[in-house]
Amino acid sequence: MILDDFKLNGKVAIVTGCNTGLGQGMACALAEAGADIFGVYRSTPGDTPLLIEKCGRRFEGIQADLSVPANAEDIVNKALDTYKHIDILINNAGIIRREDSINFSEQDWDDVLNTNLKTLFFLSQAAAKHFIRQKSGRIINIASMLSYQGGIRVPSYTASKSAVKGLTMTLANEWAPYGVTVNAIAPGYMETNNTTALRADKARNAAILERIPAGRWGTPDDMKGAVVFLASNAAAYVNGFTLAVDGGWLSR
Ligand code: NAD
Repeated sequence: MILDDFKLNGKVAIVTGCNTGLGQGMACALAEAGADIFGVYRSTPGDTPLLIEKCGRRFEGIQADLSVPANAEDIVNKALDTYKHIDILINNAGIIRREDSINFSEQDWDDVLNTNLKTLFFLSQAAAKHFIRQKSGRIINIASMLSYQGGIRVPSYTASKSAVKGLTMTLANEWAPYGVTVNAIAPGYMETNNTTALRADKARNAAILERIPAGRWGTPDDMKGAVVFLASNAAAYVNGFTLAVDGGWLSR
């Protein structure tokens, strides 16, 4: 039956940036659908382990700095040592730096590209080596509205998120023959730490809200349906696609 295809019982999902925001929401969604979680967090996992265990699922994890791409292989190996298999990789962790492009520093360029793109690629590569052997796997990258649009004062973020959308298609093309799907979710404007400054700016907040057809900011819960779908058997023939979860933003 079709609803059974959405179930993730027996699956293991690696979720980067699992401690807060969209990563925490997606980790909870995957656990609610039946998956055990291997969380990656920069300092502590926060209350995510508790939330996962409340769903009756197992949480294990690793502290890692994802601005260092060389950590990717260790993360996947640790997840494999812990659970003996992995099925889903959610490349969620990301950062943003805001500054006029004319003044943008090399440090702000490198930090964002390393975290949002380079580590995402090498984590995908490390996971795919395992997925190809087991002839199944799901990679879900977190893109952005700035995979489609330019934004203002966020050159490295826009470059990274536009590249995530393109890379999602490349990897889907290469790994589809092995039962691996690679898709992305492009969140719209969501209420998380990432957007605290934007929401605190009264004028920007009003302008953003006015442009969102749904008339509200998104929440981590809004990611749940999309991530479970793309991680599940129900999406077996969906590959290389970036799905917007944006309250209609891109349609305007
Ligand atoms: P957030 O700031 O609450 O979460 C970001 C997560 O990434 C945190 O868990 C953080 O610890 C982790 N992270 C960042 N740098 C890291 C590093 N060097 N090592 C390890 N972990 C690191 O923001 P969020 O909104 O939940 O962001 C999640 C993803 O969604 C990001 O990729 C972001 O670009 C993307 N996104 C967010 C929005 C939005 O409106 N909030 C919109 C589009 C895309």
